[in-house]
Amino acid sequence: MKERNNDQPENNKSYVSISLRKYITGQLSVILFSLTLLTLGLTGCKSNKSVASPSSDQDLVSTIAYDLNILVDYENEKIEAACGLTVENRFHHSVNRLPLVLYRLMRVTSVEDEQGRKLYFSQQVVSYEDWDKFQANFIEVNLKSPLQPGAKAILKIAYSGYLSGYTETGLSYVRDSIDRNFTIIRPDCLAYPQVGIPSWSANRAAGLQTFDYTVRVTVPKSLVVANGGRLIERLVSEQQVTYVYKNILPAWRIDVAIADYNLLEEPSLGLRVFYFKGDEPGARRVLEAMGNCLQLCTKWFGPLASKTDFTVIALPEGYGSQSDVTSILQTRDAFLNPEKLVQLYHELSHLWNVKSLDPLPPRFESEGLAMFLQYVTREELEERTGDLEAAARRTFESLKLKCRENPRLLEVPMIDYGREQLTDYSYTYGMLFFYVLSKMAGQEAMLQAVGSIYQNFCQTGATARQFLEHLQTPLGLNLEAFYQSWVFSTEAIRDICNFPSLDDLVRKYAPAARP
Ligand SMILES: [Zn+2]
Repeated sequence: MKERNNDQPENNKSYVSISLRKYITGQLSVILFSLTLLTLGLTGCKSNKSVASPSSDQDLVSTIAYDLNILVDYENEKIEAACGLTVENRFHHSVNRLPLVLYRLMRVTSVEDEQGRKLYFSQQVVSYEDWDKFQANFIEVNLKSPLQPGAKAILKIAYSGYLSGYTETGLSYVRDSIDRNFTIIRPDCLAYPQVGIPSWSANRAAGLQTFDYTVRVTVPKSLVVANGGRLIERLVSEQQVTYVYKNILPAWRIDVAIADYNLLEEPSLGLRVFYFKGDEPGARRVLEAMGNCLQLCTKWFGPLASKTDFTVIALPEGYGSQSDVTSILQTRDAFLNPEKLVQLYHELSHLWNVKSLDPLPPRFESEGLAMFLQYVTREELEERTGDLEAAARRTFESLKLKCRENPRLLEVPMIDYGREQLTDYSYTYGMLFFYVLSKMAGQEAMLQAVGSIYQNFCQTGATARQFLEHLQTPLGLNLEAFYQSWVFSTEAIRDICNFPSLDDLVRKYAPAARP
């Protein structure tokens, strides 16, 4: 499993990145999709106290789990929800208050602690301090007693309200609403409380949260609730149906899509596709591609340590595609486009990533690898040739432009991309790293070496350095000098900037290129 902080331009998240970038400059561009990264906070209840300054020293405790109950009231176009939120204090000091953010048209009606005691809270709709147009309900909950270091707390937050998107902020894909045709509950629209304060940069600095969740969603019987977790129960009453889902791997977001979906599945492989009526041929193609891809990755890398379900959910056009650890939400145009199967290959390959032990992983070892693998997979499964070459050439050209736009690329070695917030380039420069390495070592050997990393570290996880170290063994190569040029210094990216063509780069680093 892995975090999906960003996805590369050709992948799902790109929509988010691109749409955001149009509107946001500088540091905010990185924060984009961190809509989803907003750290969660807790809070709840009521009071008329004034809201503390958002930039005051708020402690953003870690989110451990959600237990979310949602009733969708289509008559009144609103949701009624009860959110159990488990947090942990990983600071060395105790914490008295929990800050939360929630969608601007949602109000918290009560907050209780684990013992059912009412907690005082304040709430107020405010603009983010570093993004004026972005407004949220900022809630602060006072705990009955301080949360000690290492301790956990469960808050029960009752809230309700409307969803009306965030298009006014420039997030044109966040057009969420409560509508019988299509409703989506997701972090991008703050549809559930998240630990955080009204500041993109502060929430982002708190780091990506991974948590477990159970989500129960009640809708009219005519509708279907789709989620990327495992369906635990489907409870039908006279008028309504309640779907209960649990996450499969530690999650970093909860997405619930509700529509008159059809479902296609392959239970033996744990694969599911939620699609709109009339799109069955497309859904069959997606299901088949998933099955083929899993089979191919298993052949290359060996079996997964545990069986993992995977779900694809179609969204209407314009809602932005998104991926979580065990699912992809794909807009209908992408869902129906066979060229976009490459996104599926990318995401499925991530199942063979090992857990990163770096606090801020550089991500070439996950995203750069997935970019490389998505094209190799497509060549193999779709009997195409030249896909990887073409992608490598495009990437080379785009990096040449980027390194002029962003001089930091010439200063920061790839090993520090996580720490220096340059992981967008792990998709591109990281992909070229694996491309050139495969020229040196041979593609077949590269794939085996990647499998060897998975089999060795799937239980323990690995740092990026361990990943690199281990890679040498199955390849039977001493890669110290290569790593020095590509990962631990900026020599190779300077070459990309200066060399006229990709061939020059390959000639320098893989003079005896193998097929
Ligand atoms: Zn990815």
